[in-house]
Amino acid sequence: MHFAVLPGDGIGPEISAATLQALELLDAKLALGLTFANHDIGLLTLKRDGTTLPRSVLDACRKADGIILGPLSHSDYPARAQGGINVSAELRVGLDLFGNIRPARSRTGLPHWGRTPMDLVIVRENTEGFYSDRNMHWGVGEFMPTPDMALSVRKITASGSHRIAKMAFEIARARRRKVTAVHKINVIKVSEALFLREVRKVAQDFPDVRYEEQLIDSMAALLVRDAPRFDVVVTTNMFGDILSDEASELSGGLGLGGSINAGDTHCMAQAQHGSAPDIAGQDRANPVSLILSAAMLLNWLSRKHQRADFAQGAAMIENAVDALLADPATRTPDLGGRLGTMAFTNALCDHINIMVAERTPTLISRSS
Ligand code: NAD
Repeated sequence: MHFAVLPGDGIGPEISAATLQALELLDAKLALGLTFANHDIGLLTLKRDGTTLPRSVLDACRKADGIILGPLSHSDYPARAQGGINVSAELRVGLDLFGNIRPARSRTGLPHWGRTPMDLVIVRENTEGFYSDRNMHWGVGEFMPTPDMALSVRKITASGSHRIAKMAFEIARARRRKVTAVHKINVIKVSEALFLREVRKVAQDFPDVRYEEQLIDSMAALLVRDAPRFDVVVTTNMFGDILSDEASELSGGLGLGGSINAGDTHCMAQAQHGSAPDIAGQDRANPVSLILSAAMLLNWLSRKHQRADFAQGAAMIENAVDALLADPATRTPDLGGRLGTMAFTNALCDHINIMVAERTPTLISRSS
């Protein structure tokens, strides 16, 4: 099972190294049969090769069983014509990673910022919507007819809506069996009606899963006020992007949420946060988001290849993270703790070593 690792910009190399350390330990202890290859991307290759995403890296990702993508400093990239390719968008579209799955879960002992704790998953459509860099076959979905007027195109398709809804209902079936579709049909009447039409069709195929709908604005408020009522939330690209950041932050912190981009054939682990250039190279980055994303990737591979040992590895990562976050002495500075990236990762590996030694057979993974 081969993983392509793309460390990215800013804190990317530090948190990717931490993630690899955890995965290599699991590989050694559980004999998972993993191999890894690092590939440079981002500002490093822009300077060296004139592009943030060399063609060879895209090809390597296509061939890999799993991809681990570090955060990228998109805001510092030049235009595409000058080599500034949005790596994340390119891989999501190029490998048809249509579902961005983002769990948000509060932890015992760690403060949550919403009024209530939460344990939910946001399933965000990843390849269309308002994203001008990925919703056109040719050209860009934004243009200026006059110097003082800018227009953005939003793309919603029946097939795109149907498959993301199916992914959400399948995830709900393995959880608390409830799906909430989030929309803005009172204003965006045509494309939101198409999105909901498809989600409702899928809902009929899952009579064992409760289904409800919620306007995006009230959803934003309910996440703060009454998050336990939600289990799986399915929505379009931009609503999902914003809601998932809100949910992660409310659950305890943006640095805590894992995330995968998944399609029918490929899966990519990617932290929810950005490249944090303000703390890059200082051993202050919290690697939890990317490490939990890697655990989600292991779970995805476990289902795809019927590999129970991969799910066991994912559960070990999740349990080790929970144990460290529960204790203020083993947190990183963003959570008020004192452990640097490397010390936190070493502590995580110590926990994994203990679990392997005890080999708790009943560990159940919580990630999707
Ligand atoms: P950011 O998420 O990088 O940082 C916001 C704040 O959170 C900063 O104070 C940062 O230090 C802190 N932070 C983020 N991740 C952290 C971690 N793991 N541990 C500790 N602290 C952490 O957002 P930003 O500053 O708005 O963006 C910086 C760059 O990242 C920009 O170029 C932006 O385009 C890019 N970005 C990339 C992605 C991605 O690759 N998926 C997502 C969002 C932003």
